[in-house]
Amino acid sequence: MTDVVVAGGGPTGMMLAAELRLHGVDVLVAEKRLRPPGFMRALGLHVRSIEVLDQRGLLPRFLAEGTRYPLRGLVAGIDRPAPEDLDTAHPWVLGIPQPVTDRLLAEHAAGLGARVRRGAEVVGLDQDDDGVVVRLADGTHEQCRWLVGCDGGRSTVRRLLGVGFPGEPARTEFLLGEMAATAAPEEIAAVVARVRATERRFGLGPLGGGHPLVSCRLRDLPLARGRLYERMHSGRGLLLDATGRLSPAGWADRVDHVVGPWTTPVGPEVPAVLLRPDGHAAWAGGDQQELAESLGRWFGAAA
Ligand SMILES: Cc1cc2nc3c(=O)[nH]c(=O)nc-3n(C[C@H](O)[C@H](O)[C@H](O)COP(=O)(O)OP(=O)(O)OC[C@H]3O[C@@H](n4cnc5c(N)ncnc54)[C@H](O)[C@@H]3O)c2cc1C
Repeated sequence: MTDVVVAGGGPTGMMLAAELRLHGVDVLVAEKRLRPPGFMRALGLHVRSIEVLDQRGLLPRFLAEGTRYPLRGLVAGIDRPAPEDLDTAHPWVLGIPQPVTDRLLAEHAAGLGARVRRGAEVVGLDQDDDGVVVRLADGTHEQCRWLVGCDGGRSTVRRLLGVGFPGEPARTEFLLGEMAATAAPEEIAAVVARVRATERRFGLGPLGGGHPLVSCRLRDLPLARGRLYERMHSGRGLLLDATGRLSPAGWADRVDHVVGPWTTPVGPEVPAVLLRPDGHAAWAGGDQQELAESLGRWFGAAA
């Protein structure tokens, strides 16, 4: 029985298949098309996508087939230069047709050992406690422990599961911001009440404490040896530890440990940061007990 069948071999399905292979999961991609589509949707990749590609060692392949363009802000017909201090090592856009992106990600997934079955349209599924039987349009089926629907905006898997997609086009615009509020709670409550008298949707909620780096994505930065994104190609967690006295023991099969001086380009310096495989900080601090709790929360029980 296959561990995971991924329905849909677009960019989401192929990237997921590759990520699963990095962790040794047996994966089959069932893609309904025999051949990739000839038409183009995406014309380019933005900063965050480029960072993710770099984190997995894919960027040179994409750079070889794309064109770098400077970032520009274009709002209401006003063309403006992009800010110079963007928090990224990749402040540019990569022009690359989606069929090329699809091909490169398919090669990446296959190179890591993902099996791809083309001409395999998912039309039905049955699931019980042991797993899922995935029924295909040609009358055959695949058995797996997990099925993941990456079959696009009109997802068949979503429909088969009866998962709703209710809604209508948005007609209201919201502004959302995060800030450190220093005024007294009663003063803040009074201001909120005053604004809500005329703006009923206005609200303010606590985000909780914790280090400001937590849940932020870290840009690429130089380490004592090499650079951060180079250390993320394996798709494992990463403990950046300037103290040398912290340990991910118990999670060493899932989390790498990099000891040495490093600097954060944002926020105050911290002794250590635990990074999730997607490059976001799960924890920042210097306390081993807190670190162990966070490792358990994000990476499962200790071995
Ligand atoms: C006009 C346009 C322009 C865009 N421009 C950009 C851009 O410049 N930059 C950018 O980043 N994004 C852009 N996008 C968005 C981008 O195209 C999508 O985010 C991306 O394709 C989503 O990838 P996906 O893998 O989730 O879905 P899809 O690309 O839709 O892939 C889904 C796959 O599932 C397969 N499938 C469907 N049903 C089944 C089934 N039952 N069984 C098996 N396989 C199935 C399909 O054949 C397909 O291969 C654009 C989109 C459009 C429409």
